[in-house]
Amino acid sequence: MEVSSVKKLEQMEFSLESVTDLSSSSVSSSSPAVATFSCVDGVTELRFLQSDSTHCFNFDLASAQLFKLGPVHFICVSDSSSSSEEKSFSQGVNIKFITEKDSKDFCESFEEWTKDAVVQGSSLQNGTVSAKKSKFDNKIEASSAKMYFHYYGQLLHQQNMLQDYVRTGTYYAAVMENRSDFAGRIVVDVGAGSGILSMFAAQAGAKHVYAVEASEMAEYARKLIAGNPLFAERITVIKGKVEDIELPEKADILISEPMGTLLVNERMLESYVIARDRFMSPKGKMFPTVGRIHMAPFSDEFLFIEMANKAMFWQQQNYYGVDLTPLYGSAHQGYFSQPVVDAFDPRVLVAPPMFHMVDFTQMKEEDFYEIDIPLKFTASMCTRLHGLACWFDVLFDGSTVQRWLTTAPGAPTTHWYQIRCVLSQPIYVMAGQEITGRLHLIAHSAQSYTIDLTLSAKMWGPGASQGGILQSSTCKFDLKEPYYRMSQPQAYPVAQEPPLQPQPELSTQQDIQTQNDELEEELLQQPPQNPSTQL
Ligand code: SAH
Repeated sequence: MEVSSVKKLEQMEFSLESVTDLSSSSVSSSSPAVATFSCVDGVTELRFLQSDSTHCFNFDLASAQLFKLGPVHFICVSDSSSSSEEKSFSQGVNIKFITEKDSKDFCESFEEWTKDAVVQGSSLQNGTVSAKKSKFDNKIEASSAKMYFHYYGQLLHQQNMLQDYVRTGTYYAAVMENRSDFAGRIVVDVGAGSGILSMFAAQAGAKHVYAVEASEMAEYARKLIAGNPLFAERITVIKGKVEDIELPEKADILISEPMGTLLVNERMLESYVIARDRFMSPKGKMFPTVGRIHMAPFSDEFLFIEMANKAMFWQQQNYYGVDLTPLYGSAHQGYFSQPVVDAFDPRVLVAPPMFHMVDFTQMKEEDFYEIDIPLKFTASMCTRLHGLACWFDVLFDGSTVQRWLTTAPGAPTTHWYQIRCVLSQPIYVMAGQEITGRLHLIAHSAQSYTIDLTLSAKMWGPGASQGGILQSSTCKFDLKEPYYRMSQPQAYPVAQEPPLQPQPELSTQQDIQTQNDELEEELLQQPPQNPSTQL
């Protein structure tokens, strides 16, 4: 992590033309002064001392704020004085610099010194909370974060994840099969929820586990862990965001379940890599290690008609005497901006899938802000193409066993299901025809993504050599507003029947890789066909 040169200093001084007390009723004498930033016993402080030593003003930087009134004129206020006897009052001073450059340098230092200032008395067990607006709060809307952590603070939602046996069982297997990565190690559980992964790590012999959880679930995790005395001594629950809390030691291994639909939904992968940079020792491991977003075009007339029909409601011209048609276009667009979440039959895929690799050990937080995936497929049949189907898998790159957790269609269903982006204008393709396009994901402050999808069919037949685009279709989706379709009756037969149409090869071995990474080739080439059943 980058450490600024200013912060490394333990003390820093600036000359002032004058400093005067804001609260004093009499006009206090303005005399030259010195401003000093310092850090004493972990408390960062700003002190203004008049050169005749008549007045001294101390500010705890955890609550101090600076307001610019003119080029060299500022006021500095804080919600309390750092001297204990005056704690119940706010205090403020008027400060003037000699030159504009002095004032600019002072402001920069003020920024740096306040960045990591910590509120006194807010120490948590094995951790402390920063007073400043954190990295998380800066990029995520407060209302979204509130709802998000409220959701995860409820046992029913944690239970839903625990009851996804493909998910939880694969984590258990990945940990237990790789005991040597946990035994005697320091572990951080990033977003611990109920604390289940912490207890898996403890079962595998971890020396100590720091279970970091931001929601109220942290209290339940404490209770659950306390009721499991075999592990309780080796697990410390820390309530707070991984962006804010401090840990007393570096971790040998991070374990986390930060995946959302389409892998990246919820934007928790950013917290995972922030935790990596903040807490993991340089040779540490990450469980999971990499993720892949898989994509393939699909054809599903039934789904398309179902969505189009929903908007038909707005085609009524006499709804209790009211013409609804002015809103038909908006309603239609609204339905087609919802990614569809359900488990589909892999036979709807009309081309072998490709994948986009996301290496958690290498990605920077900012790399998640915009993810641009060029698409290229070859149609395996002649059909009407309705959009792009997506799913993901993650790899636990253990020292003993490499295990994949997959959410692929055809594999046992997980609580993530799969996701489909349906185009409002389908395109027609011929077997062998090239389909190109782009999947562009742009992160937004409501912990999700806007998705721009374009699919195009290249010229086919005699004109193909000219390489032109025959048809193109574009749609925008909000990943935050999915259409959960799981309650619908399963329209697909489950019995093994001979496929009605040529089946696109679903094997991940056939996937086309879009991003070169440093992982061993073989690691990517040989994920088990159905890893989640190998418990
Ligand atoms: N590890 C648990 C829970 C996974 S759900 C399990 O596998 O069952 C993800 C959890 O991470 C939620 O409980 C959520 O509240 C928490 N979380 C998300 N972002 C976080 C952050 N930035 N800091 C700490 N916890 C976070």
